[in-house]
Amino acid sequence: MAKGTIGVTTENIFPVIKKFLYSDHEIFLRELVSNAVDASQKIRTLSSFGEFKGEVGELKVTVSVDKEKGTLTVSDHGIGMTAEDIDKYINQIAFSGAEEFLAKYKDTASSIIGHFGLGFYSAFMVAKKVEINSLSYKEGAEPVLWSCDGSPEFEMEKGTRTERGTDIVLYIDDESKEFLEQARIDTLLRKYCRFLPIPVYSGETLINALEPMWMKKPSELTDEDYIKFYHELYPGQDDPLFWIHLNVDYPFTLTGILYFPKIKNNFEVTKNRIQLYCNQVFVTDSVEGVVPEFMMLLQGVIDSPDIPLNVSRSYLQSDSAVKKISSYITKKVSSRLDELFRNDRKNFEQKWPDIRIFIEYGMLTDEKFCDAAMKFALLEDTDHHFFTLEEYKTLVEPNQTEKDGNIVYLYTTDPVAQYTYIKAAADKGYSVLLMDGQLDTHFVGLLERKLEKTRMVRVDSDVIDRIIRKDNNSSVNLTPTQRNILSTLFQSSTPDVEKANFYVEFEALSANDMPIVITQNEYMRRMKDMAAMQPGMDFYGEMPDSYSLVVNTASPLVEKINEAATAALADKIKPLEDSIDADNAKIEELRKNAKDGKLDAESQQQTDELMAAVGKARDEQQAMIKDYGKDQPLVRQIIDLALLGNGLLKGRDLNEFITRSVQLL
Ligand code: ADP
Repeated sequence: MAKGTIGVTTENIFPVIKKFLYSDHEIFLRELVSNAVDASQKIRTLSSFGEFKGEVGELKVTVSVDKEKGTLTVSDHGIGMTAEDIDKYINQIAFSGAEEFLAKYKDTASSIIGHFGLGFYSAFMVAKKVEINSLSYKEGAEPVLWSCDGSPEFEMEKGTRTERGTDIVLYIDDESKEFLEQARIDTLLRKYCRFLPIPVYSGETLINALEPMWMKKPSELTDEDYIKFYHELYPGQDDPLFWIHLNVDYPFTLTGILYFPKIKNNFEVTKNRIQLYCNQVFVTDSVEGVVPEFMMLLQGVIDSPDIPLNVSRSYLQSDSAVKKISSYITKKVSSRLDELFRNDRKNFEQKWPDIRIFIEYGMLTDEKFCDAAMKFALLEDTDHHFFTLEEYKTLVEPNQTEKDGNIVYLYTTDPVAQYTYIKAAADKGYSVLLMDGQLDTHFVGLLERKLEKTRMVRVDSDVIDRIIRKDNNSSVNLTPTQRNILSTLFQSSTPDVEKANFYVEFEALSANDMPIVITQNEYMRRMKDMAAMQPGMDFYGEMPDSYSLVVNTASPLVEKINEAATAALADKIKPLEDSIDADNAKIEELRKNAKDGKLDAESQQQTDELMAAVGKARDEQQAMIKDYGKDQPLVRQIIDLALLGNGLLKGRDLNEFITRSVQLL
């Protein structure tokens, strides 16, 4: 029996391993099984090169637990180790300054282990004692038993193994009893080892019956194969929409299959993420930094020995190999989408509602993807026709260009609620885009930035003739007095609506249009929409909405109201208006004569008196019009109709409206 000291430069590596790797103890199993698989593959290789002449036999790795003894054993039928091998590979840890290194990267130490040949030692995270019982394939080799209780001292003696291969026996420590449950081991092996190339058993159960489909050639696979594999990866999901088989040899090695899932509720996919493998060993499913952010919506498998998976995440993101991989994947995904679009547009259009969130997200967050996607991103109109950006421009340019040369793209966020506006636009022969997706508020902004001389306007943000300004707008035919009367009449007849302000405007639409149209300013509305999506911007959300109450002076109803109001009020209002005008003129005159903007005492007094008179006349006017308005149910009725059309008429006001409607009928 030999005794010796394990050749690490640090005094005692094990406390370090235990301490820093606390959070990720389970990976010890991945390390030990990977070693066993490697050893099994090596014997196969040696045999194929004729360097091993014996029987290869059944190569498999078994993980078994013995609760009574408190042991977990990983057994293989691989190349085994001689005492010399153990000395070289186990006793002399090939990594000096391990402690210092681990201290530096303590947050990610778990993943560093494999990288620096500490894989085997991770067993000490969960074991108080570890034994290696091995018999090498080499001719005349002696079985060897190595054991170590977690101190830097080990013992080595003649072993008992009679078959080629290795048993790694872990005497599980008291804090790690969970690893003596076969069910727990099952779960772990399924997570890390389900695609390993050598059969792995958890007790009697085969863990890796699945083939790592991504290692095959695309030409050998059918659609059914891809779909079946998807369901194996993500049970209980709908069929994927389509997939991309990745296969690169240069300048890095990478294989994988990425799936476009059918996303039911947006962003639910975070729990079914892309899985990262390194030579078929599962490493992680947090792929931030390896794939572009928007691809986090995809699912599937990426396998690459070139991703430095064993280092810290911040390092990962700045790593040039990872950057190359990331931009390769972006390019691959956009060219695949382009191909799908060109080869089978109909199919692409059908899938559009499911993939648009992905494409829009990509366009919003990735410049390169955005440029590529400009070719295949689709716009959908309210009749559910699809257009590329190019096609849509061609479609609307002739009819929706304003006199200043801007093309106006109309869109709706809610075709039901905004129906009347869509209809008004359609009657003019205009097209309206459907922008009711989760990301569309942002996407509208993006389109406006990307498309030249183009404005995006929500269809209800104004009366259609004022959204797309052409020269042929007919003008409002009202005298100043009539304007004055109607403006006060409508303003004072508008009910109080919570968190809403209304401003009366006049527009001569057509006689068939609604007598009053309520619109909301595009800019303010967008600010509020944005604010609603960003935490900490409640300020905008709290502000009342400003609406325009656009009175259609061409409507026969409005004409009727105007005529009656003029007849009843004009003669009384006119003298008041005249006196207001005269007083204002006098005030103006006095101000003109002021020296350095300062009035003398006498002029100041005159001005004050005149202003008081103007105020009084205004109040009188207003009272008179308001008083008149009380007996004009028609005014209130058409306002209420417009409010109703916008879902703004509620509670008592709604009830009054109904009662009044019955009376008017
Ligand atoms: P790594 O696997 O990263 O090289 P490890 O500490 O896990 O580092 O293993 C060190 C070495 O010990 C391996 O490279 C291998 O030569 C040897 N080894 C470990 N486990 C086995 C095994 N089950 N069978 C044969 N050799 C093994």
